[in-house]
Amino acid sequence: MTGVLDARDRDEAIRTLAAGPLDVLVIGGGITGAGAALDAASRGLRVGLVESRDLAAGTSSRSSKLIHGGLRYLEQGDFKLVREALRERDLLVSRLAPHLVRPVPFLYPLYKKVVERPYVGAGLVIYDAMEGVKRPVPHHRHLTTRGALRRAPALRPERLAGAMMYYDAQVDDARYTVTVARTAARYGATVVTRATATSLLRDGSRVTGASVLDEESGRVFEVRAARVIVCAGVWSDLVHEASGVRAGYQVRMSKGVHLVMPRSAIDADTGMIVRTSKSVLFFIPWDTRWIVGTTDTDWSGDRAEPAATAEDVDYILGEANRVLARPLTRDDVLAVYAGLRPLIAGPAGDKGGESRAGDKDGEKPTTKLSREHVVDAPLPGLVSVAGGKFTTYRLMARDVVDVATADLPGQVPGSVTELLSLLGADGLPAVRASARRIAGDYGVPAAVAVHLIGRYGSLATEVLDLIRADRTLGQPLLGGFAYLRAEVAYAVTHEGALHVEDVLARRVRLLIESPDAGTSAAPEVVAIMAGLLGWNRRRRAIELRRYQDFADANAAALTAVGPVPEVESVAPIPA
Ligand SMILES: Cc1cc2nc3c(=O)[nH]c(=O)nc-3n(C[C@H](O)[C@H](O)[C@H](O)COP(=O)(O)OP(=O)(O)OC[C@H]3O[C@@H](n4cnc5c(N)ncnc54)[C@H](O)[C@@H]3O)c2cc1C
Repeated sequence: MTGVLDARDRDEAIRTLAAGPLDVLVIGGGITGAGAALDAASRGLRVGLVESRDLAAGTSSRSSKLIHGGLRYLEQGDFKLVREALRERDLLVSRLAPHLVRPVPFLYPLYKKVVERPYVGAGLVIYDAMEGVKRPVPHHRHLTTRGALRRAPALRPERLAGAMMYYDAQVDDARYTVTVARTAARYGATVVTRATATSLLRDGSRVTGASVLDEESGRVFEVRAARVIVCAGVWSDLVHEASGVRAGYQVRMSKGVHLVMPRSAIDADTGMIVRTSKSVLFFIPWDTRWIVGTTDTDWSGDRAEPAATAEDVDYILGEANRVLARPLTRDDVLAVYAGLRPLIAGPAGDKGGESRAGDKDGEKPTTKLSREHVVDAPLPGLVSVAGGKFTTYRLMARDVVDVATADLPGQVPGSVTELLSLLGADGLPAVRASARRIAGDYGVPAAVAVHLIGRYGSLATEVLDLIRADRTLGQPLLGGFAYLRAEVAYAVTHEGALHVEDVLARRVRLLIESPDAGTSAAPEVVAIMAGLLGWNRRRRAIELRRYQDFADANAAALTAVGPVPEVESVAPIPA
């Protein structure tokens, strides 16, 4: 039980699942499934997890990457959600994952001199007050107009009436999900990716496991489990329908699009949040990039690769340009990505869970649908969870495992994840303080050690061990980026990456960070993976083509033509 997901051990992991029986089989390897696997494994249960594609390949790599209470939910009166989310934020920043979740400042520009400051200020007082007693992120502050422009010279000065500054936290969502899955493996869970649960096994009305298709080999195997937990996000309805299960809730898909831009496109040293006619727009600092978004529109198309449209891109540019002195154009956009929120819409029963959705939810615009989660137990042996937010995954996991294990024979202890740091958090202060010495020990520049500690915490030495064994792995993966070749090898040997997409889209984030969607790094990635996974020439060519096709599909929204909307006004914010 090492917490290593070695792609080369996948066949062995499949044999373990097939040998069964398990206490719990989790379907879905997004943040909710990874969290459920960790919650159950750390209660001493025998756990397996199957994921159709790659860990976090669904919504959990396509979020705004914020660990936050959600200011706008406060305005919608969703106090419970905000309070829970803020507590989780603080727990992750301070104890569970300080190497992955970092505080980030946000500037909230004000445009209505008299009314807006007291209104937003009062909201932020409540927001700050909802945190726990210990405060790992700073308090909000008031800024004058001059102060606001000092932090964000990019803002148009006309009508700017100062700003508020508050703090939330941010995360590499895909890296976080992989780390949760690895931590689950550390406590004994068996995790297999590219494995689809095609139908549920039954003994009468009781669910006793699942039939699973190995997407790599085409073989089918059965996994027996006392409980099956469905954490399939926007695929939940499909998983239920495939086995004729009438669940107590349905998922409504809401598409959210983000644009990625270079930091030079927007002159500000802080994140920003501005109100739009429909919701809010975030400008989120992301290393050498900005992530700007998002949208919130109904979606009924392809779940696996939701497409951003030219309209989505223009909406975000148009809203951003209402507040920016130098208007953004499509030329500023390096990448676009889209994700699907799994929102709960009726009919929603309250079978042992936390349903909040009403029957009328099918008619509401998706911005108004609840972000809370629902746990449903439609059949004996089967429990299903959906909704929620990335920020609250630990609570979703706890709740669904509580319901799943309520009537398991023997005493199943309560959740312990509140006390359980993720892999890489152990000894973090000492590792950070020792970055220079570690660099010296491994014979790499200090910047390399700092980069790796920033991404892997105390596990950075595992990556450095690979470099020690093969110095060529210490070279950069792609010019202009801090990623190392060693991170590709580590993705295979420790993080379960099976394909080029797994590496470039989720273990490193070149798909969204690089102007060519990481395609120029793909041959290098193929070469490193081929050495580890024994790919022949034909397989290398297939992998390369497969990534190119994937990257092309992702870039499609940017190639669409049409004028960017004119900039008419400075943030006329609807109340
Ligand atoms: C645009 C956008 C921005 C967001 N921003 C934030 C934010 O800033 N902060 C925040 O807290 N939340 C945010 N969220 C919400 C958050 O991202 C989601 O709530 C969360 O990622 C959902 O995780 P999940 O595990 O439930 O679903 P997913 O991540 O979609 O995981 C479900 C998994 O199940 C797998 N699967 C499906 N069917 C099967 C099967 N039959 N067998 C095996 N596997 C299967 C899929 O491949 C998928 O990987 C955002 C969401 C969106 C769309």
